[in-house]
Amino acid sequence: MEITLAKNAGFCPGVKRAVDKALTYATTKNTYTLGELIHNPPFLKKLEELGIRSIGFDEIESVLNAIAPETMHLILRTHGIPLEQERELRTLAEKSGRLQIIDMTCPFVKSIHRIAESNTSDQTVFLHFCHKDHPEALGNMSYAKGEKYAISSIEDIKLINLDGKIPILCSQTTENLVEFKKIKNFLKNLYTNAIFFDTICSVTENRQTEAIALAKASDGMIVIGGKNSSNTKKLYQLCKEQCDETVLVESASDIPKDFPVGKNKIGITAGASTPGDIITEVLKLWK
Ligand code: SF4
Repeated sequence: MEITLAKNAGFCPGVKRAVDKALTYATTKNTYTLGELIHNPPFLKKLEELGIRSIGFDEIESVLNAIAPETMHLILRTHGIPLEQERELRTLAEKSGRLQIIDMTCPFVKSIHRIAESNTSDQTVFLHFCHKDHPEALGNMSYAKGEKYAISSIEDIKLINLDGKIPILCSQTTENLVEFKKIKNFLKNLYTNAIFFDTICSVTENRQTEAIALAKASDGMIVIGGKNSSNTKKLYQLCKEQCDETVLVESASDIPKDFPVGKNKIGITAGASTPGDIITEVLKLWK
């Protein structure tokens, strides 16, 4: 049997940067992450054991009051946060003098914030190709001025009146590249004034392109990652389109017992928030 691990499997630079930073706070009292740092249950458990707990935005003030007069360290994850929340946090930090914000928003996400902020107005319609309730999408959308819509298909665009306006299309960093291109071409053909920003991050783009090719050449495909992880779900969907025998697993123990039976070529890839040790565990099954 031939086992091929994708070169672009596991932590992306943005996630690695956030995880490494969080681990430097392992011995610092009162450290929290705003939401789950990465969508990976085993890693989140490890963080909790180190005393770093995930909290919601609504809990921040009460935690800050409960630990007074000590300082609270709050790590913002790679997805970023909506503009309003950012403003509230900065005000709270200034007022209390005890809130340290450790902003680990990925630079690729920050660049979407800047695109949305500086290219939108009353004359534009901001079309964000995204998973509408995803935290990154909520943050990205919050920076756009004027009319704005979260879209997931060409059908969604057909329902929006774009006459007399300038359509601005950009995508969530971890969206499906194939779909994005379809939407872009559709708009290009109908609206000569449309402006496009290719904001699927290059790491995601390479990971997806490689996964598609690997799935095409494999009899069975394993996608490793958290079931709540947007980029992992996209990866699974793209691989499944190429290889019917594709499974999505969070760890080695999730792989169905009969999965590789009769398969000659197995491909393995992993989402951006999958730690290396989980990938190694899966590889060990065939050693
Ligand atoms: S997938 Fe891309 S945008 Fe998202 S955290 Fe990783 S490097 Fe940043």
